[in-house]
Amino acid sequence: MQMKRKPKLGQNFLVDDSARHAIVDALGDLSKRTVIEIGPGHGAITDILAARCHKLIALELDRSLAAELTFRFRDHPQVQILECDVLKTDLLTLVPEGETADVIGNLPYYITSDILLQLFAAGSAGTLARAVLMMQREVADRVSAAPGVRDYGLLSATAQMNAQVDNLFTLAPSAFLPPPDVYSTVLRLHFAPRFAELGVDPEEFNLFLKQCFAQKRKTLQNNLRAAGYSAEQLSRAWPASVPAQARAESLALESMAELYRSLSHVVA
Ligand code: SAM
Repeated sequence: MQMKRKPKLGQNFLVDDSARHAIVDALGDLSKRTVIEIGPGHGAITDILAARCHKLIALELDRSLAAELTFRFRDHPQVQILECDVLKTDLLTLVPEGETADVIGNLPYYITSDILLQLFAAGSAGTLARAVLMMQREVADRVSAAPGVRDYGLLSATAQMNAQVDNLFTLAPSAFLPPPDVYSTVLRLHFAPRFAELGVDPEEFNLFLKQCFAQKRKTLQNNLRAAGYSAEQLSRAWPASVPAQARAESLALESMAELYRSLSHVVA
């Protein structure tokens, strides 16, 4: 197979055969599932998916790769190749009313965070059930980090408000052609938004998280002061269980939600 490459589109193609299978295996039985693949490239995992899913919709921005796959799967009515930018595609419209879909992809690393936010929005709408995604190891470590560890931050909190995250395995650059400069990790997400359970409004709480994590070196109180809360509001609302000098990085989501609820009462 000839591998022409557009580096700007994050094209590092997976060539490790056992990794191709392991990624698809991570979604389990797909015989009744609709699966959306992001960035199929030359079809490293598309071939395996096509044989296993009820329906496969693959979204590829590169016109020549989309054409190559459209030709390859011309006799597979369950496979649909769409030439499009995933970030400009409304995933909700791809899934039949009343059904859910799973997402899979060896992601183009330059837009990993944007894709994650897009998936969390679709997951909140109840349209997505699970996702298995390969991304740069450092980003995967942030998405899956627990509070209190070095990598925990806004991306971790946002991800874990929206999904249960499993860190599955890591691949060396040699698994790809051409090899990227970084290691890659595969995560599995089960979309399970926690906003209702924690009694917070999704949009307002997302904004609150951004304020809490605005500056990593500042304490939570200082970040909230910078966001416009007064010292008096903070002292009235501050839960006894949260140390005054705490940083956002050390707080469990339950405590973060408790602080948000308490502040909403004081500000209202
Ligand atoms: N899935 C293939 C594999 O594992 O070998 C290719 C993975 S490669 C890391 C990322 C793929 O995403 C490339 O095929 C690239 O053209 C495609 N891509 C880049 N930006 C995209 C976008 N905005 N929307 C859809 N696909 C995109």
